[in-house]
Amino acid sequence: MYFFIEKFGIPLGGLIGAATIFLRYAFMAGVAFFVFYVIKRRSWLKYKIQQRFPAPKHIWSEVLHSASTALIFALMGIGIYCARAAGFTRIYTDISAYGWGYLVFSFVFMVVLHDTYFYWVHRVMHHPKVFMLTHRVHHQSRNPTPWASLSFQPLEAVLEFGIIPVAILCMPFHPLALFLFTVWSLFFNVTGHLGYELFPKGFVRHPVWKWMNTSTHHNMHHQRSNCNYGLYFNFWDRVMGTNDSRYELEFERIKERQRA
Ligand SMILES: [Zn+2]
Ligand SMILES: [Zn+2]
Repeated sequence: MYFFIEKFGIPLGGLIGAATIFLRYAFMAGVAFFVFYVIKRRSWLKYKIQQRFPAPKHIWSEVLHSASTALIFALMGIGIYCARAAGFTRIYTDISAYGWGYLVFSFVFMVVLHDTYFYWVHRVMHHPKVFMLTHRVHHQSRNPTPWASLSFQPLEAVLEFGIIPVAILCMPFHPLALFLFTVWSLFFNVTGHLGYELFPKGFVRHPVWKWMNTSTHHNMHHQRSNCNYGLYFNFWDRVMGTNDSRYELEFERIKERQRA
């Protein structure tokens, strides 16, 4: 993003940045879609959480909304670029300034911060007074595909990642830590909306792995809306009692179907 803006200026560089953000997303979502919804559509059906497929026009709507989200993310990137040029951010480029240990810590910190932020913002977006303004488009996908990962209306696109610019203003981050965070986030979003459950039987009851979210967890959120608000970790849903009470049973039921 910085490279494009520095080379081509803000309008054109921002547009190229938006295209790059979308293409990176399209690559991840596209590969997942091509494998699970085209090549292995029939032979891996037993892994599919909901045993039907969404209509093509619905998938196109997810793709178009994702493209508009990429544009919003690019605008946020331009904002961070301008803030940095004005000396407001704590971005540093010399790793030795804080060391590798701090770089890893800042990445983990961003993941945990975003997970917490997302849970609470997500719950607020489900309030009837703001749902239509913020979160309606994302929930048009009741049977999500990988293309639903960034299928947001503009306000949700800003809200979903709004904590990131704030964090960059307050705390030192190396671009590599921010890049790793975006890869982590994209990967989790695509697998969360995959529509297929790949984790093994017993995963959601394992003492360690049960704290990670699964594709089934988020798929149930898209079907029922009033439960399973978490993003990466199954922490806040457990603490706040918002996991769907049928979550573990549903996961195991899908696993039994795969074994049959
Ligand atoms: Zn979703
Ligand atoms: Zn939701």
